Amino acid sequence: MHDDNSKAGGEEPPAGQRLEALKEFRSAGRGFWRDVAGKDWSDWHWQLTHRIRTVEQLRRLMPTLTPEEVAGTQLANHKLALAITPYFFNLIDPADENCPIRWQMIPRIEETHTAPWEMSDPCGEDSHSPVPGLVHRYPDRVLFLVTDRCAAYCRYCTRSRLVSNASGYDFHPEFDKQIAYIAAHSEIRDVLLSGGDPLLLSDEKLENLLSRLRAIPHVEFLRLGTRIPIFLPQRVTPELCAMLKRFHPLYLSVHTNHPRELTTEVRDALGRLADAGIPLGNQSVLLKHVNDDADVMKAHVQKLLMCRVKPYYLYQCDLISGSAHLRASVSQGLEIMEKLRGHTTGYAVPTYVIDAPGGGGKVPISPEYVLCRNAGRVLFRNYEGTVFEYPEAADGTPTCKPPKVIEEPELV
Ligand code: SF4
Repeated sequence: MHDDNSKAGGEEPPAGQRLEALKEFRSAGRGFWRDVAGKDWSDWHWQLTHRIRTVEQLRRLMPTLTPEEVAGTQLANHKLALAITPYFFNLIDPADENCPIRWQMIPRIEETHTAPWEMSDPCGEDSHSPVPGLVHRYPDRVLFLVTDRCAAYCRYCTRSRLVSNASGYDFHPEFDKQIAYIAAHSEIRDVLLSGGDPLLLSDEKLENLLSRLRAIPHVEFLRLGTRIPIFLPQRVTPELCAMLKRFHPLYLSVHTNHPRELTTEVRDALGRLADAGIPLGNQSVLLKHVNDDADVMKAHVQKLLMCRVKPYYLYQCDLISGSAHLRASVSQGLEIMEKLRGHTTGYAVPTYVIDAPGGGGKVPISPEYVLCRNAGRVLFRNYEGTVFEYPEAADGTPTCKPPKVIEEPELV
């Protein structure tokens, strides 16, 4: 697949053509595994067993590994493990050093370069954890970490301190304690299951967990946070969907960052979840080399809608240790948001947030549309830069004066 966001080499196609190319749905194909039996390839257990986990495997499959990648991969299993499903590996373009999937998945030596302001727990989760594996940061909802394993590992992972256990965090969630805490706190109306990836649990284990949570009268709403439909669409079986739909209202957030991740296989898997009545949202992380480009982001959010997924959050990359090479700037994030709002369907526009470093929660960040507020009016601009006036008394009560377009170009 070569529909990447690379700007290097040759002339750029016209903007419209580039957008259409980025939005095209393609299969990940079978790649190096073309001789594997179809029933194995579509078996999620086979995919997990055959993940790429070592530098030797990577070198064999990708002779174009750079020295930075080789060095990073050799060290990865002391920090955040290397693991990529064969299915997802096929999305990497080995001929392209700027491949957006490659930057997300292949360890690099820059992961060992750390700065004093970077953290192993940038969202302060451990300090808001009343029992191991439960984060209670907001008043009415909790984050329930059910496993430390994922189908594949993202190099910018906010929870790299615990996922994969490469750095020895030794995470052993005890569901009884977590469930007892939720049951004892009647203010908790919303439980988000995450990890690691909750869809790595067997259907039976997940069903048991969801049943126990549903039995708590004050739990109104269940959510799953998962990247499995993207790394391992084979996991989204009809049986899994039939089981999940018994626990409504249940929402599911996937995590994708680049339009190339939305393959025909992923579209079908997300369709099965949507057909089970599960509302779907997407969380993206703004990443250098991946999606720090307005056209790429526009193609991505439009493609998500075609997969029946609402783009939910765009995260500024957390200050995770060793992530500087992947972090795009806040000003790039704002510029991208500026180019989305008004320029495409409102449903396609995510909320851009910074998870406040150290544990202050998600804070929405937006381009400035309100230009000034004074005694009699609010001045604001639209996506084209045209300035408007909304009359309003100083105390906020409406006035009878109709709004009108005004000319104050110095405010634009
Ligand atoms: S899937 Fe989520 S939890 Fe797992 S490595 Fe990626 S970002 Fe981290």
